[in-house]
Amino acid sequence: MSLMLPLSELYTQVHSQIERQQKQQKNFDVIVLGVGSMGSATCYYLAKQGHRVLGLEQFDIPHELGSHAGQSRIIRKAYFEHPDYVPLLEAAYNNWRDLENETGTQLYFKTGLLYFGKPDSQLIKGLKLSAEKYKVPVYHLSSNEMASQFSQFQIPDDYERMIEPDAGFVTPERAILTYTGRACQLGASVHVNEKTIAWKKVGRSITVKTDRDTYYCSKLVITAGAWAGKIIPTLSKQLSVTRQTLAWMQPRNTSKFESGNFPCWTIADQEKPGIYYGFPMLSASTFGGPIGLKLGHHTPGLPSDADAVDRIPAKADEDNLISMLNKFIPEGYASIRSIKTCLYTYTPDENFILDFVPGFEKEVVMAAGFSGHGFKFASAVGEVMADLATKGSTEHPIGFLNAARF
Ligand SMILES: Cc1cc2nc3c(=O)[nH]c(=O)nc-3n(C[C@H](O)[C@H](O)[C@H](O)COP(=O)(O)OP(=O)(O)OC[C@H]3O[C@@H](n4cnc5c(N)ncnc54)[C@H](O)[C@@H]3O)c2cc1C
Repeated sequence: MSLMLPLSELYTQVHSQIERQQKQQKNFDVIVLGVGSMGSATCYYLAKQGHRVLGLEQFDIPHELGSHAGQSRIIRKAYFEHPDYVPLLEAAYNNWRDLENETGTQLYFKTGLLYFGKPDSQLIKGLKLSAEKYKVPVYHLSSNEMASQFSQFQIPDDYERMIEPDAGFVTPERAILTYTGRACQLGASVHVNEKTIAWKKVGRSITVKTDRDTYYCSKLVITAGAWAGKIIPTLSKQLSVTRQTLAWMQPRNTSKFESGNFPCWTIADQEKPGIYYGFPMLSASTFGGPIGLKLGHHTPGLPSDADAVDRIPAKADEDNLISMLNKFIPEGYASIRSIKTCLYTYTPDENFILDFVPGFEKEVVMAAGFSGHGFKFASAVGEVMADLATKGSTEHPIGFLNAARF
Protein backbone atom coordinates (compact mmCIF):
# COMPACT_ATOMS: atom_id res chain seq x y z
CA MET A 1 0.00 0.00 0.00
CA SER A 2 1.51 3.30 -0.99
CA LEU A 3 1.21 6.03 1.53
CA MET A 4 1.39 8.74 2.59
CA LEU A 5 0.94 12.37 2.05
CA PRO A 6 1.83 14.32 5.17
CA LEU A 7 -1.41 14.98 7.07
CA SER A 8 -1.16 18.72 6.36
CA GLU A 9 -1.04 18.09 2.57
CA LEU A 10 -3.97 15.67 2.75
CA TYR A 11 -5.89 18.35 4.66
CA THR A 12 -5.18 20.97 1.95
CA GLN A 13 -6.11 18.58 -0.83
CA VAL A 14 -9.41 17.55 0.78
CA HIS A 15 -10.39 21.10 1.66
CA SER A 16 -9.90 22.17 -1.95
CA GLN A 17 -12.21 19.26 -2.95
CA ILE A 18 -14.75 20.52 -0.39
CA GLU A 19 -14.46 24.04 -1.88
CA ARG A 20 -14.97 22.78 -5.44
CA GLN A 21 -18.24 21.09 -4.44
CA GLN A 22 -19.88 24.18 -2.90
CA LYS A 23 -23.26 24.77 -4.55
CA GLN A 24 -26.21 27.05 -4.04
CA GLN A 25 -28.45 23.97 -3.88
CA LYS A 26 -30.95 23.70 -0.99
CA ASN A 27 -32.64 20.33 -1.70
CA PHE A 28 -30.91 17.03 -1.11
CA ASP A 29 -31.81 13.36 -1.00
CA VAL A 30 -29.97 12.95 2.30
CA ILE A 31 -28.42 15.36 4.79
CA VAL A 32 -25.76 14.04 7.16
CA LEU A 33 -25.64 16.03 10.40
CA GLY A 34 -22.09 15.89 11.79
CA VAL A 35 -19.11 15.05 9.56
CA GLY A 36 -16.77 13.34 12.01
CA SER A 37 -15.98 9.62 12.24
CA MET A 38 -19.37 8.15 11.35
CA GLY A 39 -20.67 11.09 9.31
CA SER A 40 -17.72 11.27 6.89
CA ALA A 41 -18.09 7.53 6.15
CA THR A 42 -21.86 7.96 5.70
CA CYS A 43 -21.35 10.83 3.20
CA TYR A 44 -18.98 8.58 1.24
CA TYR A 45 -21.37 5.61 1.02
CA LEU A 46 -24.33 7.80 0.06
CA ALA A 47 -22.35 9.69 -2.62
CA LYS A 48 -21.01 6.41 -3.97
CA GLN A 49 -24.57 5.17 -4.44
CA GLY A 50 -25.35 8.33 -6.47
CA HIS A 51 -27.50 10.17 -3.92
CA ARG A 52 -27.49 13.96 -3.62
CA VAL A 53 -25.81 14.41 -0.23
CA LEU A 54 -25.08 17.36 2.02
CA GLY A 55 -22.77 16.90 5.01
CA LEU A 56 -23.00 19.61 7.69
CA GLU A 57 -20.14 20.03 10.17
CA GLN A 58 -20.15 22.65 12.92
CA PHE A 59 -16.32 22.82 13.16
CA ASP A 60 -13.43 22.09 10.82
CA ILE A 61 -12.80 18.62 9.33
CA PRO A 62 -11.16 17.06 11.27
CA HIS A 63 -11.09 18.88 14.63
CA GLU A 64 -10.06 18.35 18.26
CA LEU A 65 -13.31 19.21 20.07
CA GLY A 66 -15.22 15.93 19.58
CA SER A 67 -14.28 12.26 19.81
CA HIS A 68 -11.91 11.61 16.91
CA ALA A 69 -8.68 13.52 17.56
CA GLY A 70 -5.33 11.97 18.46
CA GLN A 71 -3.73 10.05 15.54
CA SER A 72 -4.72 6.48 16.32
CA ARG A 73 -7.59 4.23 17.38
CA ILE A 74 -7.22 0.52 18.22
CA ILE A 75 -8.93 -1.97 15.89
CA ARG A 76 -9.37 -5.58 17.01
CA LYS A 77 -11.69 -8.49 16.40
CA ALA A 78 -11.62 -10.62 19.58
CA TYR A 79 -14.17 -8.21 20.98
CA PHE A 80 -14.26 -8.51 24.76
CA GLU A 81 -17.27 -6.17 25.07
CA HIS A 82 -19.70 -8.52 23.23
CA PRO A 83 -19.25 -11.29 20.63
CA ASP A 84 -22.14 -9.91 18.57
CA TYR A 85 -19.83 -7.12 17.37
CA VAL A 86 -17.50 -9.55 15.56
CA PRO A 87 -19.51 -9.90 12.30
CA LEU A 88 -19.75 -6.10 12.13
CA LEU A 89 -15.99 -5.96 12.66
CA GLU A 90 -15.45 -8.34 9.74
CA ALA A 91 -17.35 -5.83 7.62
CA ALA A 92 -15.37 -2.94 9.09
CA TYR A 93 -12.00 -4.57 8.28
CA ASN A 94 -13.18 -5.30 4.71
CA ASN A 95 -14.48 -1.78 4.22
CA TRP A 96 -11.28 -0.16 5.52
CA ARG A 97 -9.32 -2.30 3.06
CA ASP A 98 -11.65 -1.36 0.18
CA LEU A 99 -11.24 2.33 0.96
CA GLU A 100 -7.46 1.94 1.08
CA ASN A 101 -7.49 0.22 -2.31
CA GLU A 102 -9.82 2.79 -3.82
CA THR A 103 -7.80 5.80 -2.63
CA GLY A 104 -4.24 4.42 -2.34
CA THR A 105 -4.09 5.70 1.24
CA GLN A 106 -3.07 3.48 4.14
CA LEU A 107 -5.49 3.80 7.06
CA TYR A 108 -5.10 0.48 8.92
CA PHE A 109 -1.76 -0.43 10.50
CA LYS A 110 -1.24 -3.99 11.69
CA THR A 111 0.90 -3.92 14.83
CA GLY A 112 -0.57 -6.82 16.79
CA LEU A 113 -2.41 -6.15 20.04
CA LEU A 114 -1.34 -7.45 23.45
CA TYR A 115 -3.90 -8.24 26.15
CA PHE A 116 -2.85 -8.51 29.81
CA GLY A 117 -5.20 -9.21 32.71
CA LYS A 118 -6.25 -11.67 35.39
CA PRO A 119 -8.04 -14.72 33.95
CA ASP A 120 -11.36 -13.58 35.46
CA SER A 121 -11.15 -9.99 34.13
CA GLN A 122 -13.77 -8.91 31.57
CA LEU A 123 -10.93 -8.20 29.13
CA ILE A 124 -9.54 -11.74 29.16
CA LYS A 125 -12.83 -13.64 29.59
CA GLY A 126 -14.57 -11.55 26.92
CA LEU A 127 -11.83 -11.76 24.31
CA LYS A 128 -11.64 -15.54 24.69
CA LEU A 129 -15.41 -15.82 24.28
CA SER A 130 -15.41 -13.82 21.04
CA ALA A 131 -12.27 -15.50 19.73
CA GLU A 132 -13.67 -18.99 20.33
CA LYS A 133 -17.10 -18.22 18.89
CA TYR A 134 -15.77 -16.61 15.71
CA LYS A 135 -12.38 -18.34 15.35
CA VAL A 136 -10.43 -15.11 15.73
CA PRO A 137 -6.71 -15.97 16.00
CA VAL A 138 -5.42 -15.10 19.50
CA TYR A 139 -2.50 -16.79 21.25
CA HIS A 140 -1.00 -17.09 24.72
CA LEU A 141 2.49 -15.66 25.03
CA SER A 142 5.03 -17.72 26.94
CA SER A 143 7.47 -16.14 29.38
CA ASN A 144 10.24 -16.68 26.79
CA GLU A 145 8.22 -14.93 24.06
CA MET A 146 7.46 -12.05 26.42
CA ALA A 147 11.15 -11.69 27.30
CA SER A 148 12.41 -11.92 23.72
CA GLN A 149 9.69 -9.90 21.90
CA PHE A 150 8.01 -7.65 24.45
CA SER A 151 10.62 -6.92 27.07
CA GLN A 152 9.18 -3.40 27.50
CA PHE A 153 6.39 -4.88 29.66
CA GLN A 154 6.58 -5.91 33.33
CA ILE A 155 3.47 -8.04 33.87
CA PRO A 156 2.52 -9.79 37.16
CA ASP A 157 2.87 -13.58 37.06
CA ASP A 158 -0.84 -14.18 37.72
CA TYR A 159 -1.93 -12.16 34.65
CA GLU A 160 -2.67 -13.86 31.34
CA ARG A 161 -0.61 -12.60 28.40
CA MET A 162 -2.26 -12.87 25.01
CA ILE A 163 -1.76 -11.49 21.53
CA GLU A 164 -4.14 -10.88 18.61
CA PRO A 165 -1.66 -10.66 15.73
CA ASP A 166 -4.11 -9.24 13.15
CA ALA A 167 -5.12 -6.28 15.31
CA GLY A 168 -3.56 -2.82 15.18
CA PHE A 169 -4.78 0.72 14.74
CA VAL A 170 -6.65 2.90 12.28
CA THR A 171 -5.81 6.54 11.94
CA PRO A 172 -8.81 8.83 12.50
CA GLU A 173 -7.76 12.21 11.06
CA ARG A 174 -6.50 10.60 7.84
CA ALA A 175 -9.60 8.38 7.59
CA ILE A 176 -12.08 11.24 8.08
CA LEU A 177 -10.25 13.37 5.50
CA THR A 178 -10.07 10.45 3.08
CA TYR A 179 -13.81 9.68 3.39
CA THR A 180 -14.73 13.36 3.08
CA GLY A 181 -12.48 13.98 0.08
CA ARG A 182 -13.70 10.90 -1.74
CA ALA A 183 -17.35 11.77 -0.98
CA CYS A 184 -16.79 15.21 -2.54
CA GLN A 185 -15.11 13.66 -5.59
CA LEU A 186 -18.24 11.51 -5.93
CA GLY A 187 -20.49 14.60 -5.85
CA ALA A 188 -21.30 15.20 -2.16
CA SER A 189 -21.45 18.75 -0.81
CA VAL A 190 -19.86 19.28 2.59
CA HIS A 191 -20.14 22.49 4.61
CA VAL A 192 -17.64 23.14 7.40
CA ASN A 193 -18.09 25.58 10.28
CA GLU A 194 -21.87 25.46 9.85
CA LYS A 195 -23.82 24.39 12.92
CA THR A 196 -27.21 22.72 12.65
CA ILE A 197 -29.60 24.38 15.06
CA ALA A 198 -32.81 22.43 14.46
CA TRP A 199 -34.55 19.91 12.24
CA LYS A 200 -38.20 19.04 11.80
CA LYS A 201 -40.48 16.99 9.62
CA VAL A 202 -42.69 19.06 7.33
CA GLY A 203 -45.06 16.97 5.25
CA ARG A 204 -42.96 14.21 3.71
CA SER A 205 -39.64 16.00 3.90
CA ILE A 206 -37.22 17.12 6.60
CA THR A 207 -36.23 20.76 7.06
CA VAL A 208 -32.76 21.39 8.51
CA LYS A 209 -31.97 24.84 9.85
CA THR A 210 -28.35 25.89 10.42
CA ASP A 211 -26.70 29.08 11.66
CA ARG A 212 -26.30 30.05 7.96
CA ASP A 213 -29.22 28.68 5.96
CA THR A 214 -32.15 26.26 5.66
CA TYR A 215 -32.02 23.00 3.66
CA TYR A 216 -34.51 20.29 2.73
CA CYS A 217 -34.08 16.55 2.36
CA SER A 218 -36.01 13.28 2.12
CA LYS A 219 -33.82 11.57 4.73
CA LEU A 220 -31.70 12.84 7.57
CA VAL A 221 -28.79 10.92 9.13
CA ILE A 222 -27.66 12.18 12.55
CA THR A 223 -24.04 11.36 13.39
CA ALA A 224 -23.46 14.12 15.92
CA GLY A 225 -21.18 12.32 18.40
CA ALA A 226 -21.10 14.02 21.80
CA TRP A 227 -23.78 16.47 20.61
CA ALA A 228 -26.32 13.74 19.69
CA GLY A 229 -28.34 14.23 22.90
CA LYS A 230 -28.74 17.93 22.09
CA ILE A 231 -29.95 17.48 18.53
CA ILE A 232 -32.13 14.41 19.34
CA PRO A 233 -33.82 15.52 22.58
CA THR A 234 -35.54 12.14 23.09
CA LEU A 235 -32.07 10.60 23.38
CA SER A 236 -30.63 13.05 25.88
CA LYS A 237 -31.47 10.97 28.97
CA GLN A 238 -29.79 7.87 27.51
CA LEU A 239 -26.51 9.50 26.54
CA SER A 240 -23.89 10.79 28.93
CA VAL A 241 -20.80 12.66 27.77
CA THR A 242 -17.53 12.28 29.65
CA ARG A 243 -14.18 14.00 29.33
CA GLN A 244 -11.32 11.55 28.69
CA THR A 245 -7.58 12.16 28.91
CA LEU A 246 -4.87 11.07 26.48
CA ALA A 247 -1.15 11.52 27.15
CA TRP A 248 1.97 11.36 24.98
CA MET A 249 5.09 10.45 26.96
CA GLN A 250 8.80 10.73 26.33
CA PRO A 251 10.09 7.21 27.05
CA ARG A 252 13.50 6.52 28.54
CA ASN A 253 14.54 4.58 25.47
CA THR A 254 12.78 5.91 22.37
CA SER A 255 13.80 3.21 19.90
CA LYS A 256 12.16 0.44 21.96
CA PHE A 257 8.78 2.14 21.55
CA GLU A 258 8.87 3.21 17.92
CA SER A 259 6.50 1.82 15.33
CA GLY A 260 7.88 -1.52 14.19
CA ASN A 261 9.43 -2.24 17.62
CA PHE A 262 6.34 -1.93 19.80
CA PRO A 263 2.71 -3.10 19.42
CA CYS A 264 -0.65 -1.76 20.55
CA TRP A 265 -1.54 -3.01 24.03
CA THR A 266 -4.33 -3.26 26.63
CA ILE A 267 -4.00 -3.95 30.35
CA ALA A 268 -6.77 -4.65 32.88
CA ASP A 269 -5.07 -3.62 36.13
CA GLN A 270 -6.88 -5.58 38.84
CA GLU A 271 -6.50 -2.62 41.22
CA LYS A 272 -8.16 -0.09 38.90
CA PRO A 273 -11.46 0.07 36.98
CA GLY A 274 -11.52 -0.13 33.19
CA ILE A 275 -8.66 -0.81 30.81
CA TYR A 276 -5.42 0.98 30.03
CA TYR A 277 -4.34 1.00 26.39
CA GLY A 278 -1.64 2.42 24.20
CA PHE A 279 0.13 2.61 20.85
CA PRO A 280 3.61 2.68 19.35
CA MET A 281 5.22 6.09 18.77
CA LEU A 282 4.20 7.51 15.39
CA SER A 283 5.53 10.13 12.99
CA ALA A 284 3.83 13.47 13.66
CA SER A 285 4.01 14.62 10.02
CA THR A 286 2.20 11.51 8.75
CA PHE A 287 -0.30 11.03 11.57
CA GLY A 288 -0.56 14.51 13.07
CA GLY A 289 0.98 15.60 16.39
CA PRO A 290 1.86 15.32 19.18
CA ILE A 291 4.96 13.13 19.23
CA GLY A 292 5.33 10.58 22.01
CA LEU A 293 4.28 7.26 23.44
CA LYS A 294 0.48 7.59 23.51
CA LEU A 295 -1.72 5.98 26.15
CA GLY A 296 -5.13 6.38 27.79
CA HIS A 297 -7.47 4.88 30.37
CA HIS A 298 -10.76 3.45 29.07
CA THR A 299 -13.09 4.15 32.00
CA PRO A 300 -15.70 6.90 32.45
CA GLY A 301 -14.05 10.30 32.97
CA LEU A 302 -15.55 13.55 34.26
CA PRO A 303 -19.24 13.97 33.22
CA SER A 304 -19.32 16.99 30.86
CA ASP A 305 -21.41 19.10 28.53
CA ALA A 306 -20.00 18.90 24.98
CA ASP A 307 -20.30 22.70 24.61
CA ALA A 308 -18.73 23.57 27.96
CA VAL A 309 -15.93 21.06 28.52
CA ASP A 310 -13.07 22.06 30.77
CA ARG A 311 -10.26 21.19 28.34
CA ILE A 312 -7.49 21.56 30.91
CA PRO A 313 -6.54 18.00 31.89
CA ALA A 314 -6.65 17.18 35.61
CA LYS A 315 -3.41 16.50 37.47
CA ALA A 316 -5.01 13.31 38.86
CA ASP A 317 -5.50 11.98 35.30
CA GLU A 318 -1.88 12.72 34.44
CA ASP A 319 -0.67 11.00 37.65
CA ASN A 320 -2.88 7.99 36.93
CA LEU A 321 -1.26 7.44 33.51
CA ILE A 322 2.27 7.99 34.81
CA SER A 323 1.83 5.52 37.68
CA MET A 324 0.35 2.97 35.27
CA LEU A 325 3.45 3.22 33.04
CA ASN A 326 5.81 3.02 36.00
CA LYS A 327 4.02 -0.14 37.13
CA PHE A 328 3.69 -2.04 33.82
CA ILE A 329 5.96 -0.35 31.21
CA PRO A 330 8.71 1.24 33.31
CA GLU A 331 10.97 2.36 30.45
CA GLY A 332 7.99 4.07 28.84
CA TYR A 333 8.10 7.10 31.10
CA ALA A 334 10.82 9.70 31.38
CA SER A 335 8.65 12.81 31.10
CA ILE A 336 5.30 13.93 29.77
CA ARG A 337 5.32 15.62 26.33
CA SER A 338 1.64 16.38 25.83
CA ILE A 339 -1.73 15.75 27.43
CA LYS A 340 -5.13 16.38 25.84
CA THR A 341 -8.82 15.76 26.38
CA CYS A 342 -11.38 14.05 24.13
CA LEU A 343 -15.06 13.09 24.58
CA TYR A 344 -16.83 9.76 25.09
CA THR A 345 -20.62 9.43 24.71
CA TYR A 346 -21.88 6.55 26.85
CA THR A 347 -25.13 4.64 26.54
CA PRO A 348 -26.41 2.85 29.69
CA ASP A 349 -25.09 -0.55 28.47
CA GLU A 350 -22.02 0.88 26.64
CA ASN A 351 -23.24 -0.53 23.32
CA PHE A 352 -23.95 1.70 20.30
CA ILE A 353 -27.31 2.86 18.97
CA LEU A 354 -27.73 2.30 15.20
CA ASP A 355 -31.39 2.80 14.34
CA PHE A 356 -34.13 5.15 13.23
CA VAL A 357 -34.96 7.99 15.60
CA PRO A 358 -38.11 6.95 17.54
CA GLY A 359 -41.12 8.68 16.01
CA PHE A 360 -39.31 9.18 12.66
CA GLU A 361 -38.98 5.53 11.60
CA LYS A 362 -38.98 6.28 7.89
CA GLU A 363 -37.00 9.49 7.62
CA VAL A 364 -34.38 10.01 10.35
CA VAL A 365 -31.53 7.62 11.12
CA MET A 366 -28.97 7.89 13.92
CA ALA A 367 -25.59 6.47 14.88
CA ALA A 368 -24.90 7.45 18.48
CA GLY A 369 -23.55 6.43 21.88
CA PHE A 370 -20.26 4.88 20.78
CA SER A 371 -19.17 4.66 24.42
CA GLY A 372 -15.47 5.11 23.70
CA HIS A 373 -15.04 2.16 21.33
CA GLY A 374 -16.64 3.19 18.04
CA PHE A 375 -13.98 4.45 15.67
CA LYS A 376 -12.85 1.07 14.34
CA PHE A 377 -16.46 0.50 13.17
CA ALA A 378 -16.79 3.77 11.22
CA SER A 379 -16.24 2.04 7.87
CA ALA A 380 -19.14 -0.36 8.58
CA VAL A 381 -21.38 2.20 10.30
CA GLY A 382 -21.20 4.51 7.26
CA GLU A 383 -22.54 1.69 5.10
CA VAL A 384 -25.23 0.81 7.66
CA MET A 385 -26.41 4.44 7.85
CA ALA A 386 -26.57 4.69 4.06
CA ASP A 387 -28.54 1.40 3.91
CA LEU A 388 -31.06 2.50 6.56
CA ALA A 389 -31.52 5.94 5.02
CA THR A 390 -31.99 4.79 1.44
CA LYS A 391 -33.36 1.23 1.70
CA GLY A 392 -34.96 1.26 5.15
CA SER A 393 -32.97 -1.79 6.29
CA THR A 394 -29.48 -3.30 6.23
CA GLU A 395 -28.01 -6.77 5.87
CA HIS A 396 -25.45 -5.98 8.56
CA PRO A 397 -26.28 -7.64 11.92
CA ILE A 398 -27.18 -4.59 14.00
CA GLY A 399 -30.31 -5.89 15.76
CA PHE A 400 -28.62 -5.82 19.18
CA LEU A 401 -27.89 -2.09 18.71
CA ASN A 402 -31.53 -1.02 18.38
CA ALA A 403 -32.90 2.07 20.13
CA ALA A 404 -35.87 0.28 21.73
CA ARG A 405 -33.68 -1.59 24.25
CA PHE A 406 -33.57 1.44 26.58
C1 LIG B 1 -9.61 9.32 24.08
C2 LIG B 1 -10.38 8.42 23.16
C3 LIG B 1 -9.84 7.20 22.78
C4 LIG B 1 -10.54 6.35 21.94
N1 LIG B 1 -9.98 5.16 21.55
C5 LIG B 1 -10.63 4.37 20.68
C6 LIG B 1 -10.00 3.20 20.17
O1 LIG B 1 -8.85 2.89 20.49
N2 LIG B 1 -10.70 2.45 19.27
C7 LIG B 1 -11.96 2.78 18.86
O2 LIG B 1 -12.53 2.05 18.04
N3 LIG B 1 -12.58 3.89 19.32
C8 LIG B 1 -11.95 4.68 20.21
N4 LIG B 1 -12.54 5.82 20.67
C9 LIG B 1 -13.94 6.10 20.33
C10 LIG B 1 -14.11 6.72 18.98
O3 LIG B 1 -13.11 7.67 18.69
C11 LIG B 1 -15.50 7.33 18.94
O4 LIG B 1 -16.43 6.31 19.27
C12 LIG B 1 -15.84 7.87 17.56
O5 LIG B 1 -14.89 8.82 17.15
C13 LIG B 1 -17.24 8.53 17.62
O6 LIG B 1 -17.57 8.98 16.34
P1 LIG B 1 -18.76 10.01 16.12
O7 LIG B 1 -18.89 10.18 14.66
O8 LIG B 1 -19.93 9.58 16.92
O9 LIG B 1 -18.23 11.38 16.78
P2 LIG B 1 -17.27 12.49 16.15
O10 LIG B 1 -16.17 11.87 15.38
O11 LIG B 1 -16.92 13.43 17.23
O12 LIG B 1 -18.20 13.20 15.08
C14 LIG B 1 -19.38 13.90 15.43
C15 LIG B 1 -19.37 15.17 14.62
O13 LIG B 1 -20.65 15.79 14.63
C16 LIG B 1 -20.45 17.19 14.64
N5 LIG B 1 -21.66 17.85 15.10
C17 LIG B 1 -22.30 17.63 16.28
N6 LIG B 1 -23.38 18.42 16.39
C18 LIG B 1 -23.45 19.17 15.27
C19 LIG B 1 -24.33 20.18 14.82
N7 LIG B 1 -25.37 20.58 15.58
N8 LIG B 1 -24.11 20.73 13.62
C20 LIG B 1 -23.06 20.31 12.84
N9 LIG B 1 -22.17 19.38 13.24
C21 LIG B 1 -22.36 18.79 14.44
C22 LIG B 1 -19.28 17.34 15.59
O14 LIG B 1 -18.65 18.60 15.48
C23 LIG B 1 -18.40 16.19 15.17
O15 LIG B 1 -17.45 16.54 14.18
C24 LIG B 1 -11.84 6.71 21.49
C25 LIG B 1 -12.37 7.96 21.85
C26 LIG B 1 -11.66 8.82 22.66
C27 LIG B 1 -12.25 10.14 23.05
